[in-house]
Amino acid sequence: MIVGGGDHAFDTAIQLSDIADNVTILVNREYAKAKEKTVKIAEELGTEILYNTEIIRILKNSSGTFERIQIRNNETGTKKVINADELFIAIGFEPVKRFLKSNGFVLKKDGSIDVDINLETNIQGVFTAGDVTGEVRLIATACAEGIVAAIHAFEEIKKPYWLCWHLYFDNISWRVQYESSINSKLKI
Ligand SMILES: Cc1cc2nc3c(=O)[nH]c(=O)nc-3n(C[C@H](O)[C@H](O)[C@H](O)COP(=O)(O)OP(=O)(O)OC[C@H]3O[C@@H](n4cnc5c(N)ncnc54)[C@H](O)[C@@H]3O)c2cc1C
Repeated sequence: MIVGGGDHAFDTAIQLSDIADNVTILVNREYAKAKEKTVKIAEELGTEILYNTEIIRILKNSSGTFERIQIRNNETGTKKVINADELFIAIGFEPVKRFLKSNGFVLKKDGSIDVDINLETNIQGVFTAGDVTGEVRLIATACAEGIVAAIHAFEEIKKPYWLCWHLYFDNISWRVQYESSINSKLKI
């Protein structure tokens, strides 16, 4: 028994269809949010999909083991009890962010890390990327942020050099000399 209507719920149903005799998904709305193709695959694999249906109670047997659930059809209001060996709740995700506060990071209202445009946190030299800077997003977003954070972390490591005006101007004057010598050789 799977509760949820998104890709996670339907992907779980597809995976379970290999090992479970029957797989049922309870979708609380009249449609699934999951990709159409994923829903179709789940249907083809024999998944029973109960739309407009919510779980309202988890029932245990006399020895305290879970074995049945009570469900309600939101359209008709009808309630019924059905057997279930396993229950998978697939109604959303929360990136692991609990450890951040105790480590001194400034967090946003949603508990994600507050970062500047370079993805640096309030702790100098600590950069972040991916879901931890917001909600569950996309792999491409996490990878792109990883690159941005890495570039700025590298810059931060190099900063003592760039902030040292003596070395900075030496570097510029060296470049000017080098470029003018190249230019004269090339007769530009
Ligand atoms: C079921 C599901 C399906 C998805 N499908 C897609 C999809 O089809 N396409 C897509 O683009 N995105 C998809 N996403 C979103 C995508 O997976 C994430 O946006 C992406 O993985 C974020 O990358 P991340 O590096 O920020 O986090 P993660 O990939 O979650 O990596 C975080 C890592 O940090 C580790 N970690 C956590 N806490 C600690 C700690 N205290 N110390 C050390 N390590 C720690 C975790 O174990 C994990 O390995 C899906 C997400 C889920 C949950």
